[in-house]
Amino acid sequence: MASGIAVDLRQITKKFGTFTAVDNISLHIQEGEFFSLLGPSGCGKTTTLRMIAGFELPTSGEIYLHGDPVGQLPPFKRDVNTVFQNYALFPHLTVAQNVAFGLQMKQVSASEIERRVREALEMVRLPDVADRRPRQLSGGMKQRVALARALVNRPKVLLLDEPLGALDLKLRKAMQFELKQIQQQVGITFVYVTHDQEEALTMSDRIAVMNRGLVQQVGNPRTIYEHPQNRFVADFIGETNFVEGKVAQKGEVTTIQVGQETLQGTADGRDLQAGQTVFLAIRPEKINIYPQGQLALQKMDYVNRDALAKLFNGRELPETIDVGHYLAAETDQSIVRGTIEDAVYIGTDTRYRVTLEAGAEVIARVQNFGDRYDIPLKSGDPVYVHWAPENAQLLTE
Ligand code: ATP
Repeated sequence: MASGIAVDLRQITKKFGTFTAVDNISLHIQEGEFFSLLGPSGCGKTTTLRMIAGFELPTSGEIYLHGDPVGQLPPFKRDVNTVFQNYALFPHLTVAQNVAFGLQMKQVSASEIERRVREALEMVRLPDVADRRPRQLSGGMKQRVALARALVNRPKVLLLDEPLGALDLKLRKAMQFELKQIQQQVGITFVYVTHDQEEALTMSDRIAVMNRGLVQQVGNPRTIYEHPQNRFVADFIGETNFVEGKVAQKGEVTTIQVGQETLQGTADGRDLQAGQTVFLAIRPEKINIYPQGQLALQKMDYVNRDALAKLFNGRELPETIDVGHYLAAETDQSIVRGTIEDAVYIGTDTRYRVTLEAGAEVIARVQNFGDRYDIPLKSGDPVYVHWAPENAQLLTE
C-alpha cells in the first residue's frame, strides 16, 4: 500500500468578493485513502473539491498533488478526475462510447481503448450494457457509467461530489457499499463530498467535518462520533444530548454541577478550569434508564448476577431489589433520578424523553430486545438515569 500524501492543502482560503467560502484550511490526504468532506449546505466542501480539481483557484495558500504544487494548472493537466452528482453523460453516445470519450481525446489506440473500457465497466460491475444509451439505464447504473468514465483514465485521485445524491435511499445504501469496495479494489485516493453523515461514516477512512468554511475536526469515523471536539461536530454527526453545567471537580472523571446535582463526564484531554461553563455531550444510546422502586430480580436481564452475589456476600439473593441501590453499590458512577416525559416506540428501540431532577432534559434510546423492563416504562414514571463517564464528553465550545 502506498503511503505518501496524495492531496495536500496548505492554508487554503477562497473568497468570492468579500465572502469567504473556505477559510484557511489545511488537509493532508493520504494515498489510497477514502477521505470525505462532510458538512451542511454552503460550508465550502464543493468549493474545496473544485480547487483540488482546478475549476477554481485559491485566493491564498497552495495545493500539492503527490508532492508537487499545482499552482494555476488547468483541470486537464492535473492527475485527478471528478464524478458529479448529475452524471453528465452524453445522451446520444452508448455507454461504451461515453466511457471511451476521454481516451479518444488523448488519442489512445483503438485496441487499448476497447480493453480499458471493458476493464472499467467490469470494475463498476456493468459489463453487459456497453451498447445501451444512458436513457435506457437506471439512476444507479448511470452513476456507475460516470464512475467507469472517470476510472478509465486511471487518475491517481478521484474527486466525487455527492455522487449518490440523486439516488433513492435503498439504492444509495447499496451503492455506498459498492463504491467503497471498488475504491479498495483499485486503490485510488477518493475525495468524497457529502452532507450525509451516515454516508460519510459508512465509507470513509477519515472525515473532515466542515462548517462555514472552516474545518471543525478531522478523524476516522469512530473518533468523530465518539470524541467530537465541539458542539457543532457532536450535533451534526448523529444525535447528542447537551447538558450545560459548571466544572466542579477535575480528574480522570470530571464532575459538573447542574443545579443541585453533580453529573460525571470526561474532559478527554481538555484543560478545564473549576467553575468553567461546559456542555456535557452524551449520545442517546449511551444513556441507560431503569425503573425506580422494588422490582422482581428474576426479570432484570440488565443486572449482573455475579456482581450482585458479591454484593450480598454469600447471603441469599432477595426476590426484589431497587436497581438504583444496586447500581450505586456496584459502581462509583453517578446515578441520577429523573422522570419520563414520553416514550416513543420506533421499532429497533424506544426513545425516552427524560427530565433529570436538576431540570435538564435528555433523550435516551433503549434497544428493544424482549421485555427489557418487567413493567413497560411510560410517561410520568420515575426512573434512574445512568451513563458511563467516559461516554459523556465535556465540551467547551
Ligand atoms: P452544497 O452542499 O450546498 O453544495 P457546499 O458545502 O458544497 O454546499 P459550496 O458550494 O462550496 O458549499 O459553497 C460555499 C459558499 O460559497 C456558499 O455560500 C456559496 O453560495 C458560495 N459560493 C460558491 N461558489 C460561488 C461563486 N462562484 N460565487 C459566489 N459565491 C459562491
